[in-house]
Amino acid sequence: MSSNLTLKEIKNNIQKGDTAPSELASFYLARIKDRDGEIHSYLHVAEDAQDKAQKADIKAGGEYGPLFGIPYAVKDNILVKDMPCTAASKILENHTAVYNASVIEKLSDEGAIVLGKTNMDEFAMGSSTENSAFGATKNPHDTSRVPGGSSGGSAAAVAAGLAPFALGSDTGGSIRQPAAFCGVVGFKPTYGAVSRYGLIAMASSLDQIGPITNTVEDAKTVFNFILGKDEMDSTSMDLGEYGREKSPKDLKIGIPEEYFGDGLDPKVKKRVLEAVEVYRKMGAQVKEISMPHALYSLAVYYIIMPSEASSNLARYDGVKYGLHVADYETQDLLDMYLKVRGQGFGPEALRRVMLGTYILSAGYYDAYYIKAQKVRNLIEEDFTRAFEDVDVIISPTTPTPAFKSGEKTQDPLQMYLSDIYTVSANLAGLPCVSVPVGEVEESGSKLPAGMQIFAPRKKDHFLLDVAEWYEKEVNGVK
Ligand code: GLN
Repeated sequence: MSSNLTLKEIKNNIQKGDTAPSELASFYLARIKDRDGEIHSYLHVAEDAQDKAQKADIKAGGEYGPLFGIPYAVKDNILVKDMPCTAASKILENHTAVYNASVIEKLSDEGAIVLGKTNMDEFAMGSSTENSAFGATKNPHDTSRVPGGSSGGSAAAVAAGLAPFALGSDTGGSIRQPAAFCGVVGFKPTYGAVSRYGLIAMASSLDQIGPITNTVEDAKTVFNFILGKDEMDSTSMDLGEYGREKSPKDLKIGIPEEYFGDGLDPKVKKRVLEAVEVYRKMGAQVKEISMPHALYSLAVYYIIMPSEASSNLARYDGVKYGLHVADYETQDLLDMYLKVRGQGFGPEALRRVMLGTYILSAGYYDAYYIKAQKVRNLIEEDFTRAFEDVDVIISPTTPTPAFKSGEKTQDPLQMYLSDIYTVSANLAGLPCVSVPVGEVEESGSKLPAGMQIFAPRKKDHFLLDVAEWYEKEVNGVK
C-alpha cells in the first residue's frame, strides 16, 4: 500500500475490495509507530482505530461514500469523544473530551475513522508548533526545520504519509502556513461555513476549522462533508447554491502589490509568479491590484486576536476542568487562580492573556481595540473593492520557506511576521486556500513553497475549483 494515495484512490481500492478499512487503519498505525518518533506529529494515537475499522469491514459490500473507512488525523483542539484533548497545553493535560465536535460527528456519519490527535502550538498560538507543551513537531522535508503552525502536527502527518487527511484550525493562518511549509494543501473556509462547535476557542471571530490534504480534490471531498449550518454554532451558515460560473478562460486574477514587496524571499516569489503564469497560459487575465490597508493586517490581528483569546482562556481556572493544583492557600481563590494559570499556561499563552487583558482594560479599549476594529473594516473593504474587479486574489502563503527549529523562538515579533500574508483572510472572513507551487532550495535543502488564493465570502466552492484548475494543469489529471 502506498502512503500518498488520494482519497479517491483509497476509496476506489476499498470499493473494489482491494483494501479493507482495517488494513488501512493498521497500515497507518504501523507507519506512525515507525516514523512518528522523529516527526512527532501526533500527541495521541487512537490504538482502537483498527477495531473500529474492523466494524467497517463487516459493512463491506454496499455502496460507499467517499470517506467510508478512511482514517484521518485531528488537531488536538477539536474534541473527539473519549479521547484526550489538550490543545497542547499543560492546563488540559489530563482532559478527556466528553462529546464530539460537530465536524467529527459529520465525518463519523460518513464512516471516517479518527487515527489520533495531532500536535500544535499551545491553544493554537504560534507559527512553528514549537509552542506545544509536549515537544515540537519536525518538518518531514527537513527535520531540522519547523513544520509551521499552529496546525503543524496535522500538516506534517499528511506530508509524511501518516494520515490520508487531517483537520486543522485557522485563526490567522494556522492551516495555510503549515500546509505551505509541508508541501500540502490547506484550506480555510469562509468564516461560519464550518461549525466551530467542539473547537477549543482561540479568537472566536477569526477561528475556522478546515481540511489539510494531499490534493485540492481531497480538500473538496472533506469540505463537502463538514460544511453547513449547525444549530450548535450560531455563527455557522449554509453557503447556498453553487452554479459553475467560470472557466480558466474567463477568470480574472488580482495580484496585490503589497503581498509581493519587502520581506518576501525572491525564491518563493518566483515560484508563486510561475504558478500565476500557469493560469495566464490557461487563458486567465492577470492584473495588478492594490490593497492599501494590507500593511496594517498583522497589527490589527495582534490586537483583536489576543483580546478574544484572553476572554476565551478565562475559563481555565482550575475549577471546572483541566489542571488542579494542591498547594494553594485554602480560602484564597485568587491564589488558586494564579497558581493554576501560572503553572498551566506556557509563555506564549501567558503573553497573549496579558496583552489581551491590557488591550481590553478601561482607557485602552478605545485606543486599541475599537481602533483595530475600524481598521479591520478597512481591510475588509479593500477586499470588497478588489473583488468588484477580479474573481480571485493570489499571493504567497508565507514570506519564506520553513525556517530552522529554534530560529525564531526567542523573538515573538519575528515569529508573528510569518503570518503576514495569512491573517487578512481571517480578519475579512474570506475563504482562502494554500496550494503547493513546487520547491525552493535553501542551504542545501529542497523546501516546499505555497501560493494562497483568496475568493469572496461564501465562494468556497468556486475557490476550490480555481485551485484545482492549477493543480490538474501542473500535475495532470489523476
Ligand atoms: N500563527 C498565528 C498566531 O500565532 C495564527 C494562529 C492560528 O491561526 N491559530 O496567532
